[in-house]
This record gives sequence, C-alpha cells and structure tokens, in this order.
Amino acid sequence: MGDQPFLLDNQVIYIGASIGIACSPTDGTDPTELLRNADLALYAAKLDGKGRHRRYDAALNAASVERRLLEEGLRHAIENDELELYYQPLLDTRSGRIGSAEALLRWNHPERGLIPPADFISLAEDTGLILALGRWVIRAACQEATSWPDNISVAVNLSPVQFSDPGLAATIEAALKSSGLRSSRLELEITEGILLSDEEQTIATLTALKTQGPLISMDDFGTGYSSLSYLSRFPFDKIKIDQSFVRQIPGNKQCTAIVHAIITMGKCLDMAITVEGVETEEQHGFAVAQGCDAVQGYNVSKPLQGTDFAAFIAEWTPYCRPRTAA
Ligand code: C2E
Ligand code: MG
Ligand code: MG
Repeated sequence: MGDQPFLLDNQVIYIGASIGIACSPTDGTDPTELLRNADLALYAAKLDGKGRHRRYDAALNAASVERRLLEEGLRHAIENDELELYYQPLLDTRSGRIGSAEALLRWNHPERGLIPPADFISLAEDTGLILALGRWVIRAACQEATSWPDNISVAVNLSPVQFSDPGLAATIEAALKSSGLRSSRLELEITEGILLSDEEQTIATLTALKTQGPLISMDDFGTGYSSLSYLSRFPFDKIKIDQSFVRQIPGNKQCTAIVHAIITMGKCLDMAITVEGVETEEQHGFAVAQGCDAVQGYNVSKPLQGTDFAAFIAEWTPYCRPRTAA
C-alpha cells in the first residue's frame, strides 16, 4: 500500500513512512521519556533503510549518546586543528609518472586516535557539518598542491550535501584564488548518488563548476545506481571504477568483463578511466592491459601524510610498462 504512487498536479508523488515504537512501561513511564525513546527508534528505523519500523531498546540510547559525543567533537575538530588530509598517488599508466593525488580526510581525535572518513562523513552529512568540513578540505588541498610539481593535480571528494550548497562555486573560487593553484590542477570527485535527486539541477551545477576550470570525475563508478544516461548528459573528464570490481580480479569472469566494458565505454566517450583499489601486481597488469589511463591503490601507495607524499613524489621513478611485464 505504502509504495503506491499518487498523481498530484501531473506529478508522480511517492509517500513513505518509517515508524519508531516505544511501549509503556518497558520503554518509559512518562510521556517525555516515551516520546524521546520512540524518536530514537524512529531514527534507527530510518538508518536501517527507511520504510521500516523499529522498537526501542536500550542499545539505541547508548548509540545515540555515542553519536552526540562524536558530533560534539566534530563540531570543534576544525578549530582544534584535528583534521588532516592524506594524499594517495594516482599513477598515469602511459607516462609512468604520478599524475595526481586524491585528498582523503582523517580526523585525529584526541582520545580515539585517527578516525577514517567512513566513521564520520555520514554524521557530518546528517548534521550539516560537512559544509564547513568540505570548505576546509578544498582550501587545505589546494594549498598543499601548490607545493607539488606543477604537473601533479589534486582530487577532492564532494559529498552530495556540499553539492546542493549554493556557496560551493564561491568556495572553490576562493580556494583557488588564495592558494594560487591553477584551476586545471583541481579535480572534483562526485558519486553517482549526486545525480539521484534533481538531475536537471545537478547537471547545471556540474556545468557551472566545470567552467571554473576544475576537472570533474565520477567516483566509485558501478556501485550505486549506475544509470548510464548521465554519462551522455554530462561530459565527465574521468570515471573511477569502484574498487569492488578490481578486488575480484583475477578469477572473477564477470568483474573482468565489467572492468573491460567500462574502459571501452570510457574510451568511446572520451573520458579517462582510473581503476581504483589496485592492490597487487596482477591487478595492475590487468588494468594496464585493458588500457586504463590511471591506477590508484595500495600497489602504488597507501594514502600518505603531506610530508610523506612530498617525499614519495620526489623519489618516484617513472616507468612506462607494468612492472609485471618486465
Ligand atoms: P573514495 O573517494 O573512493 O576513496 C578511496 C578509498 O579507498 C580511500 O578510503 C582509500 O584509502 C581506499 N583505498 C585506496 N586504495 C585502496 C586499495 O588498494 N585497497 C583498499 N582496500 N582500499 C583502498 P578512505 O580514505 O577510508 O575514504 C573512504 C571514503 O570516504 C572515500 O572513498 C570518500 O568517499 C570518503 N571521503 C574521504 N575523504 C573525504 C572528504 O574529504 N570529503 C568527502 N565528502 N568524502 C571523503
Ligand atoms: Mg574519491
Ligand atoms: Mg572511489
């Protein structure tokens, strides 16, 4: 019943519901407590994937306190200087040189140590903190890249929430201006999810960003909604094939075929292809043999702190063939 669409003013409208349940006396004995616990259960139901119901249990309270603590910490992470960018090199397969690096955010938490983005980006998105975090990332990445050789670009990940911020273009412009980084040395990585909400508006924003000079990459390609229509509607500069496909190479016929097909498609569309998550020489050899333009993964290097990345590129010796081919 809940999945049936309505036609309203010639528009198709879907209505969904998530339900949080708290029962007296087990889950509380006064209205305030019951409502709060039902709200926690509702929040958990939404996190579970929406369109579901969830009964309150005490573990939800612990998870909520934990989340609040993390949110509070994240709120002050910028001013407390706890954020840090790591840089992961991308190898240009034709020249054998490092063509760019992806800036990857880390949070140096005073008590918990280094927290990876998977543990705080969605919290930052839910709370809107991603806007301030994202501004910090763009500024810091542009600034750092000015210390690298002029032919190495920097790639920054953009969250869908940042993408709907009308101030994004101004943030990018200000970061380029204050750092002095040439705009063509900046790459913006977006994921397929961005194109889900309002495709018209998204394509317009992407087009406007592109006229500012940065390259636009489609990140984690093949994992999300994989509609090919937007590839025909927007000229992405790069497509990054998600690491889940490469992880199963060699051995998995389907993944091998998919990587091959995406690289062939990229060539026809004039979009450069990066293969992500290359961990072994064998995967590297495969990606190069398929004709991809760049590889990224632990086989070349893990993400590095700024000073280590500078040392890495200073020592890098270009090679033109996969090392396995020697
Ligand atoms: P991503 O943009 O797809 O970044 C690549 C992720 O794969 C990074 O994880 C990187 O450390 C990891 N990786 C690279 N090579 C390999 C490999 O060979 N094997 C394996 N197993 N992993 C590899 P990380 O740094 O934990 O970042 C995870 C995700 O968090 C990123 O995925 C990106 O979506 C998001 N993220 C990171 N930094 C930012 C940021 O500044 N802003 C936003 N909005 N998202 C960010
Ligand atoms: Mg990325
Ligand atoms: Mg990726």
